[in-house]
Amino acid sequence: MAKVSIGMLGWRFDEDDILDENGEFLPLDEMPEDARERMIRLDTIYNAPCNACWLIHGDENVDECNTARYVYGEPLSEVILCEEHEPDFVYWFREDGGSAYRGTEEFEDQFYEWFLKGNRAPEGYEGMEYVSTDPDDLPEPPEPDPDEHGDLMGGDVSDRVGLTDEEIAESGVDFGSEYPSDE
Ligand SMILES: [Zn+2]
Repeated sequence: MAKVSIGMLGWRFDEDDILDENGEFLPLDEMPEDARERMIRLDTIYNAPCNACWLIHGDENVDECNTARYVYGEPLSEVILCEEHEPDFVYWFREDGGSAYRGTEEFEDQFYEWFLKGNRAPEGYEGMEYVSTDPDDLPEPPEPDPDEHGDLMGGDVSDRVGLTDEEIAESGVDFGSEYPSDE
């Protein structure tokens, strides 16, 4: 079965789970549950700011954040990332303990904490390789009905980030500057 990405790279769907024979989206209710949940989340996180950028810039400078192009993890504890920060996430996941949190609710918080401590991928580290796929060319996700699927929709990153203001303050990231300090 062919795998496809919708809207963002990272999450992949079995074509037969989400598309009819004409290549049109199936009604959400006809998709298997896990595909439906991810599809509904995609509507919310599509074109949202990168989580890592947001940790650097915060709500007050949200314009400085790059648009997320990659999504990893489970719906509602997913991490969304721009081109620049995707390698940091992949490094955390593969090389620095992140995979231990696969499928858990702590997944996103653990990445945020790692990132806020100033951890980054080494210079030149490559993220996942997506052969000749430009995220801008992916089809847009369908629009779910908020009355039916509201529990999976909404949820601004600032609500979901899971860290208290104190924890963010203690991390030493200066949300007022253009870049976090090296310490
Ligand atoms: Zn970013």
